[in-house]
Amino acid sequence: MRWRNGRQSDNVEDRRGMSLSRGVKIGGGSGLGLLAGVLIGMFLGSEPTVLVQGIPEMQAPSVSVQPSGQPAANDDQRNFVAVVLAETEDVWQEAFRTMGRTYQVPKLVLFSRAVESACGIAGSAVGPFYCPPDHRIYLDLSFFEDLQTRFGASGDFAQAYVIAHEVGHHVQALLGITQKVNELQGRVNPSERNKLSVRMELQADCLAGVWAHNAHESHQILEPGDVEEGLNAASAIGDDRIQRKTQGHVVPDAFTHGSAAQRVRWFKIGLERGNLQACDTFNADRL
Ligand SMILES: [Zn+2]
Repeated sequence: MRWRNGRQSDNVEDRRGMSLSRGVKIGGGSGLGLLAGVLIGMFLGSEPTVLVQGIPEMQAPSVSVQPSGQPAANDDQRNFVAVVLAETEDVWQEAFRTMGRTYQVPKLVLFSRAVESACGIAGSAVGPFYCPPDHRIYLDLSFFEDLQTRFGASGDFAQAYVIAHEVGHHVQALLGITQKVNELQGRVNPSERNKLSVRMELQADCLAGVWAHNAHESHQILEPGDVEEGLNAASAIGDDRIQRKTQGHVVPDAFTHGSAAQRVRWFKIGLERGNLQACDTFNADRL
């Protein structure tokens, strides 16, 4: 991906190396490990509200609150994230303008180990997530290593796709889709709830494709191999693959993000068509 000379967004909040307030211990935390074991992640599957589960057990005698002075080893990655975020700002600002609306830019919080959001406290292992009440995307850069080592999805565009997917959730929140789906989910059984979740997630994948289409049109960000990297990432983190990795078999009813084939399909639809209208996963007969 061509990004080195791109504009960097001012909306990256660097909380790496910071401990949490409220005396929640983040070092050597078996509590967080436990939470991580239960959740595969917002990006990989779970609701933001679930993040607060198990918090009481995690309360520990207060630890000192100070940045740990972590070396800036990841700064190239931070710059990359800031450029990708800026590219999403440009694309969605323009898309909202054409709809006669205003795009409120989200913040992206970089953290290490654990972070406190309006959706609860989350450990790194939950993966990147978007929290609608505070309009923030939360990302521990170590996820990108996992993406490569655990899921075999390497390359900078695979990482950009992850960020663009979370920004897609922000777009859904601004358009009122998130609220509508949450209301609906409150009235249906768990299996129906999962189906709605899948449509939400596939729409975010499609929106990531829409972003890539438009960012490439204005800044030629895509290099040969990038689309394949994105498709590979979409496929690697399909629920069927993840379930096979984590429990050895596939339970379609428990899918919350969609299968590998579905994620690839919707990312591609967004990428090819390049507009929001292409991403109506809620009325699509075929996912
Ligand atoms: Zn998602």
